[in-house]
Amino acid sequence: MSGSWEAVIGLEVHAQLLTRTKLFCGCATSFGAPPNTHVCPTCLGLPGALPVLNGEAVRMAVRTALSLGCSIKESSRFARKNYFYPDLPKGYQISQYDEPFSEGGFVEFEVEESGGQAKDAPPVTKRARLTRIHMEEDAGKNLHDLGGGSVVDLNRAGTPLVEIVGEPDLRTPAEAAGYLRALRDVLVFLGVNDGNLEEGSFRCDANVSIRPAGSSTLGTRVELKNINSFRFVEKALAGEIARQRDVLESGGRVVQETRGWDEKTSSTFSLRSKETAQDYRYFPEPDLPPLRLDEAFVATLRATLAETPRVKRERFVSELGLSPYAAQVLTQHPRVAAFFEEAATLSLDGVAVANFIQSEVLRDVTTRGVEAIFPVTPGQVVEILKLVSQGKISGKQAKELYAKAKGTTASPAALAADLGMSQVSDPAAIEAACAKVVADNAKQAEQYRAGKTGVFGFFVGQVMKATKGSANPQLVNETLKRLLGG
Ligand code: ADP
Ligand code: MG
Ligand code: ZN
Repeated sequence: MSGSWEAVIGLEVHAQLLTRTKLFCGCATSFGAPPNTHVCPTCLGLPGALPVLNGEAVRMAVRTALSLGCSIKESSRFARKNYFYPDLPKGYQISQYDEPFSEGGFVEFEVEESGGQAKDAPPVTKRARLTRIHMEEDAGKNLHDLGGGSVVDLNRAGTPLVEIVGEPDLRTPAEAAGYLRALRDVLVFLGVNDGNLEEGSFRCDANVSIRPAGSSTLGTRVELKNINSFRFVEKALAGEIARQRDVLESGGRVVQETRGWDEKTSSTFSLRSKETAQDYRYFPEPDLPPLRLDEAFVATLRATLAETPRVKRERFVSELGLSPYAAQVLTQHPRVAAFFEEAATLSLDGVAVANFIQSEVLRDVTTRGVEAIFPVTPGQVVEILKLVSQGKISGKQAKELYAKAKGTTASPAALAADLGMSQVSDPAAIEAACAKVVADNAKQAEQYRAGKTGVFGFFVGQVMKATKGSANPQLVNETLKRLLGG
């Protein structure tokens, strides 16, 4: 952005909790079921039906807040947020308003500092404060243009959500994307959310305003609704910041409103003028008692908290000796991290395991939400690497062995024996192979002896080819050096 303006960004994230049942009734929360099959009088808002709070949802919400450093309120309350929309059969949403169950907290995230001279500078770690986290129920889904009209699917109505409200601490679209990624990782590693932006189980509304650089008052904000990918967050914010700057620089003023992002035109468009709290006529939910979260309950949950992905990454670097990059790659998904850790524990050589998983296994892993399918077990990986470290097979053979073991439960050691794989470490056999290659390539040998040492790699390649990759590379190197003289 041009020097004279500064952007101010605050994100509101709605994350579906991975409970089995809805927030106030026993209906299943499963995604993708035939429309209106997971509904009951409570989530349909039929007269006389009463809500009962889901304990599993409360535990997940509290664990989320604790992981993000929020304070937990001993007493909080649900409220009715009144508005009319076809996907909201009750005519109100049960949410938390003036008494949320948690306050404060922060998100730590990474951002690449662009425009710097150092091109490969490591990303900078930043922290943005949270205002609050509260619980609420999701609405149903309106589906438009189906069979000529619009229809409503209420399977999602009543699904538990946490709304995570961030302070306006972010200053660039890149920071907003970094914040969102870090927040999603925390939730996914906790196992409370599947982190799926495309399917809408992790949704972001981005609020953005601009102000003259150096000013400490906030400008009028615009809310960008339902941005469903990390890439769009950055693009939509950049587009909206540019629009606001044009408005202000041409003497206009920004109106507080809700806007959408049009990927085709790369611009935002007005959806509606922004509602204010008064429009919702909030009042305490009369059908639910206040929520009490006593200290002992909170302490029990605190004790069950898993390591955050950030802490895990730091430990992979400091305890297992991984590079920060490898630690990053191996903590992209909680199941991948768990797979790596199990193999590293079994093998005692974290770096070798990390290299092998990154170069071979990862390309065959499929993830869906918090689940992942692996082509082999951690035990199979460890067994393959053990054959290498014992000198029984070469690194190249390890890759072949992995390809054979993929999708089977076979023991790699047994497979290697069946395939007749063995690394040739017998000095006499290697000597013979090297001698033949040197004799067959007299011209290159001449060049090498004349000082063109660059051809050495050619000889190594020829020997490996002749032995089908089974020769012990170190022995080949030593033998060739000796035979070629210097
Ligand atoms: P609402 O639900 O009406 O959008 P909230 O108070 O729940 O209001 O959320 C406000 C969000 O907007 C927060 O994430 C906050 O950081 C952000 N925000 C508030 N004021 C500004 C501003 N002037 N510029 C950018 N973001 C802002
Ligand atoms: Mg909002
Ligand atoms: Zn129901």
